[in-house]
Amino acid sequence: MLTNKPRGTNDFLPGEVEKWQYLEGLIRELFANYHYKEIRTPIFEHTELFLRSVGETSDIVSKEMYSFEDKGMRHVTLRPEGTAGVVRAFVENKLFAQSLPQKLYYIGPMFRYDQPQAGRYRQFHQLGCEVLGSADPTVDAEVITFAVDLFSKLGLQSLSVLINTVGCDNCRPRYQEALKAYFSQYKSELCPTCLERLEKNPLRLLDCKEEACKRIASHAPTTLEYACDDCRAHFDKVCSYLESVGVDYQVDTSLVRGLDYYTQTAFEVVMNKVGSQQNAICGGGRYNKLVSQVGGEDIPGMGFAAGMERVLLTIEEEGIQLPIPEGIDVYVAPLGDAAKKVCFELTHTLRQKGYTCETDYLSKSIKAQMKTADKNHARYSIIIGDDELAQNVAVVRNMAESSQETVPMDQVLDYIK
Ligand code: AMP
Repeated sequence: MLTNKPRGTNDFLPGEVEKWQYLEGLIRELFANYHYKEIRTPIFEHTELFLRSVGETSDIVSKEMYSFEDKGMRHVTLRPEGTAGVVRAFVENKLFAQSLPQKLYYIGPMFRYDQPQAGRYRQFHQLGCEVLGSADPTVDAEVITFAVDLFSKLGLQSLSVLINTVGCDNCRPRYQEALKAYFSQYKSELCPTCLERLEKNPLRLLDCKEEACKRIASHAPTTLEYACDDCRAHFDKVCSYLESVGVDYQVDTSLVRGLDYYTQTAFEVVMNKVGSQQNAICGGGRYNKLVSQVGGEDIPGMGFAAGMERVLLTIEEEGIQLPIPEGIDVYVAPLGDAAKKVCFELTHTLRQKGYTCETDYLSKSIKAQMKTADKNHARYSIIIGDDELAQNVAVVRNMAESSQETVPMDQVLDYIK
């Protein structure tokens, strides 16, 4: 027990963490390029926030939240997604009073009591963004384009963008009625969850993973057939902006997304290669009612989130080598006690000059130290023993060429340069 991590969590060890750092670096660079600013919100929030925003009938809220009472009897929840917290912070910190739209991004851990499997964890990480304060379809298209841009910069090939509209307060009630009428004909065949959805949240009937329900859903009326003029025009514009920058997409009328807060645009980026159910690496959409739902003014928003684990998994599956720099500049090898202090000093000086530098801490033999230097892909080794100390020199070894030279101590830095 003591040496087992909780189910659904991961340790990211050296060797793998570098991939995370590379990915995070690229994400930050690209968000800067699109002029998004980072926001960091708490890992836990009042439970009420998620009930109000994500929605009580969503899988996340009804089954997957890590909720608890703290010592002050407050109901808090480890955030299952990032949007609610960002919107809360936007309202609480009156970011709406600054220039709009606010273009915000985040990277960080999320928590869901999910069934762990490849690509699905209980602690996972998302990158995401929220654009608050514009209902313009260029925003929808920009957010989708960002996601596509990020994945193509990573070298991912087999991705598809699926897009749909889930309508608005105007047209959705009519659509929900149509869905109810349609699915009611198949009550005896629907799964228990869908029977509940039929009453509480008919839109989610389109989202069921059960084969029987999926088959029925595939012939259901579509949102596009019921979209009002505004929603239809918005959708068409988003599509035309995507086309203008060469983003390929497929209209998928069954795409409704698992969270209740979406209005109009809903989209996902799916990788065609990953196992069938976990193939969405990114999802998002427009949420024009969310800010007011959590107590702010009537301010529209649009955003997406992508799972970092799934992105990295896909990178691996596609056999993509990330350009992660390997190796150190210098390995400093002391031989014998007397050389230790000089080597300690030299290592420090090299590091101060900006060289990545490693040394020996275990009084190893020269052979063992050269092995370590090789393992660390050192470009140079500097070897100092009693003889070198006596002559005030160091042996500098070019590891790639397996050649070495004796260099006066005061010229070692110049030599390395
Ligand atoms: P969602 O917030 O459910 O729309 O999810 C957005 C993205 O987060 C998904 O496309 C996945 O890439 C990722 N994701 C969601 N849930 C999990 C999970 N339990 N484990 C790993 N990644 C997840």
